[in-house]
Amino acid sequence: MLLYELAYPNWADTNRVRWTYEYGPTKMGMDATTVTVSSVEPVGTDAIAIELTTPAEFEANPGQFVKLTVTVDDEPVSRFYTISSPAIEETFEITLTIDPAGELGPTLAELSVGDEIDVAGPFGDAAYAGESETLVLAGGPGVGPAVGIAERTIDDGGSAAIVYLDDEPIHEQRLGALSDAGVSVFVVSNGDALEDAIDSVAAELDPQVFVYGFAPFLDLATDGLTGAGLDADGAKVESFGPAPEE
Ligand SMILES: Cc1cc2nc3c(=O)[nH]c(=O)nc-3n(C[C@H](O)[C@H](O)[C@H](O)COP(=O)(O)OP(=O)(O)OC[C@H]3O[C@@H](n4cnc5c(N)ncnc54)[C@H](O)[C@@H]3O)c2cc1C
Repeated sequence: MLLYELAYPNWADTNRVRWTYEYGPTKMGMDATTVTVSSVEPVGTDAIAIELTTPAEFEANPGQFVKLTVTVDDEPVSRFYTISSPAIEETFEITLTIDPAGELGPTLAELSVGDEIDVAGPFGDAAYAGESETLVLAGGPGVGPAVGIAERTIDDGGSAAIVYLDDEPIHEQRLGALSDAGVSVFVVSNGDALEDAIDSVAAELDPQVFVYGFAPFLDLATDGLTGAGLDADGAKVESFGPAPEE
């Protein structure tokens, strides 16, 4: 089931955040290692999926994130990106939305096959851990881990659902394929529709809930879970950064 609800076009404004992030990871991965870009694919408007070669000692699950470091104007710039492939094989994937005013995003958008880039990680515990029923609530680029986790859940024989809030949805091809494979996929554009979609999923599944996106989305997701009678405290949640200052 693939449902679109596109009445409300204002999400992108609240989803553009400026932040300074100091992350204290609970689980340390490898130190910065140079890897090669093996593909860069557009996955929607101002959105790309980047595949990177997997270093020998790198093990991770979809939903964990890595730190990329790239030189911009002779200075190293680092940002975090969440794994969006269902598994780590010879390569793994991250998904980015690019803000033209961002410091690193536009540079990452210029990457080509064969370029080298420094990667550290994985970091974070809000990741798939073999749960048989999963529901991923995704805002903006949070749809990256959503598709990765849903694909992995069905590969492992489980049941999955995605509720994705965006006014310009990305990864539509993979969302469509997941829908064809029996995953409940809801694409919504406001908090009320988000809660209705969570309600529909809760009637069918008793899932582990995952939440990925920028801080304003996390608040909407928490309200949506509570409104639908689900335990928001039991969700695995990763924030992509705080809300912008007003
Ligand atoms: C744990 C974690 C996981 C993440 N996973 C993902 C992911 O999977 N995919 C993804 O796309 N992102 C993810 N992010 C967000 C990502 O790390 C970056 O924050 C994002 O890509 C923006 O980086 P940037 O350097 O392009 O923009 P930045 O330079 O950091 O700017 C951020 C925003 O501020 C605005 N801004 C910049 N300079 C100014 C200025 N002078 N005045 C006003 N506004 C300004 C920009 O328009 C932009 O929207 C994650 C973040 C965290 C913390």
